[in-house]
Formats: sequence, C-alpha cells, structure tokens
Amino acid sequence: MGGMTSRERGEGMGPTDEQLQEAMGDLVSLRRDLHRHPELGLQLPWTQQRLLAELEPLGLETTLGKSSTSITAVIRGKRRGRSVLLRADMDALPVQEDPALEFASEEAGRMHACGHDLHMAALIGAARWLHARRDELEGDVVLMLQPGEEGYDGAGRMISEGVLEAAGQRVEAAYGLHVISGPVPAGLIATKAGPVMSASDGLIVTVHGRGGHGSSPHRAADPVPVMGR
Ligand SMILES: [Zn+2]
Repeated sequence: MGGMTSRERGEGMGPTDEQLQEAMGDLVSLRRDLHRHPELGLQLPWTQQRLLAELEPLGLETTLGKSSTSITAVIRGKRRGRSVLLRADMDALPVQEDPALEFASEEAGRMHACGHDLHMAALIGAARWLHARRDELEGDVVLMLQPGEEGYDGAGRMISEGVLEAAGQRVEAAYGLHVISGPVPAGLIATKAGPVMSASDGLIVTVHGRGGHGSSPHRAADPVPVMGR
C-alpha cells in the first residue's frame, strides 16, 4: 500500500466502532418497526411515510414516485466527483409469520421474509452517515428506495421516472445489497466485480419443426430432441 494516501485506501470516511454502536440501536428499532408493518407490491404508503420521516431531518432533495410509492433522495457532496446510487428495496412477501416473535408482523398474511426491512434501515443509516460527512464527500449520492422488487418491476418504473439522473448527471454505478441466510456466514459480505444480483427473467424460444414420413426421418426436422436439450 506504499505511496497511497489514506483516501485512496478508503480510510477516513468510515465510522469508528463506537460510532457504529451508537447509531445501531436506533436503526435496529427502525428495522423492527418496518418489520411490524409489511406492505406488498408497488403501493407501500405506510413504509413510504415512515422512511420520509427518517429522511426529513436531513433536508435532502426528495422525489416521490408517480407510479409507485418510491422515494428518491440526493445527498450533495461538497467536493466535485462522480455520482453513485445506493438502493434498498421496500416490499414484503405474502407470507404468514409466526406471531410469537416480539416484533412480528402485525399484518395477516404479510411478512418481511426477504429482509427488505433490514435493507431500508441500512440505507437510512448510510444516508445519515454520508449526510453528516458531506463536506468530505466527492460527488453526489442518490438514494433509491424501491417498492415492487418481488416481481413488480419497481426498479424499471423508477428508472423510467429518472432515478439514474436524479443528481443532474447519470450515476456511474449503483450499489445494492441483499441479506441471505445460509450460504454466507453471519458477518461476512460476498461480492464480485461487475454486475451482480441481476433479476432472473423469462425467455421464450420457438422451435420450428418440419413433418415427414417415418421411413425417412432424415428428411424431416424433428423439434423434440431440440426441445429436450
Ligand atoms: Zn429480496
């Protein structure tokens, strides 16, 4: 690392352990409150209001979605630089939660079973931290709070409503995270260079065959082996 400045090594912006502990209690209660009030799909009015109340003290430029209850907010860095986007999804799943948990869902048949409650709380934590350190921030940060991740194309709607250009220039990169239980041990972050966690999608393939006589299969085009591959 010889010759690199502390900024190049990525030091200086991150919170200390004590600061993290201090911020954590509040974020844990926010996450639990979000967990108690799960909403589905593209219209999440309670969640939107709850998050706006958290963002309000920061006084950010905020835009609400037209076709969903999304929130876009911009943190302006005091230094010039490239813009990046941080994204959290907001919607829950149509799942019944075991009500025994202290902060279980209060909505029958709905649950934050995919961890988006944690993603939102984490983004609010990042927003507070970056806003507090905006004098040192090079470039702007777009916060993307996205409904409709569970198959409703919430991201597509936000992109067509301009989230990528919300800072005035197109963002250079977008970062999101997803909690997962099982494959990665607790406390470990897994990532890689380039695109990651892209959506799964459907693909329609049409196979055209050509009929023939059973005695001359070489003169027909049988679609079945192709489809069986
Ligand atoms: Zn998810």
